[in-house]
Amino acid sequence: MAELLELSVAAAAERISAGEISADEYGAVWREAAAGDDLNAYLWRGEDDPAASDGPLAGIPVAVKDLFCTEGVETTAGSRILEGHRPLYTATSVRRLREAGASVLGKTNMDEFAMGSSNENSAYGPVRNPWDRERVPGGSSGGSAAAVGGGLAPCAIGTDTGGSIRQPASLCGIVGLKPTYGAISRYGMIAFASSLDQCGPLTRDVTDAALLLAALQGRDPCDSTSVGIEGGVEAPSREDLSGLRFAVPAELAHDAIEPGVRQVFEQTLARIEELGGAVAETGLPHAEHGISAYYVIAPAEASANLARYDGVRYGMRAGEAGDLIEMYERTRADGFGDEVKRRIMLGTYALSSGYYEAYYGRAQKVRTKIADDYGAAFAEFDFVVTPTSPSVAFRLGEKTDDPLAMYMNDFFTVPMSLAGIPAISIPAGLAEPEGGGPELPVGFQIAAPAFAEQRLLEAAYALERTIGFDSSPPRSGALYVAQGNKKRTGREGDAGG
Ligand code: GLN
Repeated sequence: MAELLELSVAAAAERISAGEISADEYGAVWREAAAGDDLNAYLWRGEDDPAASDGPLAGIPVAVKDLFCTEGVETTAGSRILEGHRPLYTATSVRRLREAGASVLGKTNMDEFAMGSSNENSAYGPVRNPWDRERVPGGSSGGSAAAVGGGLAPCAIGTDTGGSIRQPASLCGIVGLKPTYGAISRYGMIAFASSLDQCGPLTRDVTDAALLLAALQGRDPCDSTSVGIEGGVEAPSREDLSGLRFAVPAELAHDAIEPGVRQVFEQTLARIEELGGAVAETGLPHAEHGISAYYVIAPAEASANLARYDGVRYGMRAGEAGDLIEMYERTRADGFGDEVKRRIMLGTYALSSGYYEAYYGRAQKVRTKIADDYGAAFAEFDFVVTPTSPSVAFRLGEKTDDPLAMYMNDFFTVPMSLAGIPAISIPAGLAEPEGGGPELPVGFQIAAPAFAEQRLLEAAYALERTIGFDSSPPRSGALYVAQGNKKRTGREGDAGG
């Protein structure tokens, strides 16, 4: 049984379609593993979502971030205000996965309305990092990342507005891909910042990410911003990086990068060169203003998107309110958490008459400058590379009182979101946290031009092979505890290939 949990999604799908293992058996093993959730990764687990027996994902259970609407199944977006909300329809992403043969294993915990970088903003309690339970899994797709990293799901989907797939993937030692804006439909995804939100896969390896992306991508008449990826997506097979040019932004001399993260980053650059790739510095002069622009644009859009939660149409309604206005006020006061309220206030202010041009308008101009910087870099280079996160997983509670410190987690991930381009985080090694302690995963981020997902996956695949990181689940799932026979090479400190 434990052997089935070791299989990559691609390997399992192959064996299921060859009839070597049954979809029912594979699904049952994963449901049992998910039932052993000791990380608070799941908010809901499916009893039986029968998987199809054909399709590229036949028999594969997928953990789904709890902001994808699932018909009849509670969908909360990590918020009290949506407690008890059972959508009348299913998100296109979930529908596409099912059409490819997959089933929904469960709905995963997340920062409320996807606002956060540590999962501590969930109304349903924080998720724990499978590598160290006293540390955060990252956010906002922390439940999805912890489930995959912790052996509670073979693969998952999440959403990324400013880093919420890549950063938790990095902190949990797995692969996370944010596709080009428009590659995947947003229909049925509870909106945070509509010009930035994108769905994407969280998986153990790059091949599995390609497999999920292939099923998810495509134009959807229900989302006018979706266009899909021309030519589709195939399993990557490239083994070298010869002829490919990788740019390191000069602005990377960011003093908040932990020494251990910097070391793994530099080792990875050396591996790129070993594989025949060229590495050189480039300028992304406006990228460092990404955080400032993002934290105007995202809250502004969020303040508009979240206006609909008024106690009338969705989820909870505060009782014993005198009149309609009081009912709105009490519902929103009780239903939203602190970070969501902070963003609504910031966003409403930034959009208010007289300030609109000064804040939102200006932030949009910075956004265009950042996109232009990437355009210039991609005229000379195939990829731009950075660490995914300035640090390894930090301790629970370490940054909850300091929103600005929390926002700085997104320093390396926000610029690609603003530019709408694809980026992937792959585990590149292990590093000690600042202040010492057992080693934790470090992610390496690769960004590519819009719709160059295939090229991105090929490079990530070649690099992944030489890094040889063991993304197999640590001993957290009930099955692993019971069997106690799981060996991790990555944890023993040898992340090298
Ligand atoms: N951490 C960022 C934020 O809080 C990004 C979140 C996301 O990508 N959904 O907004």
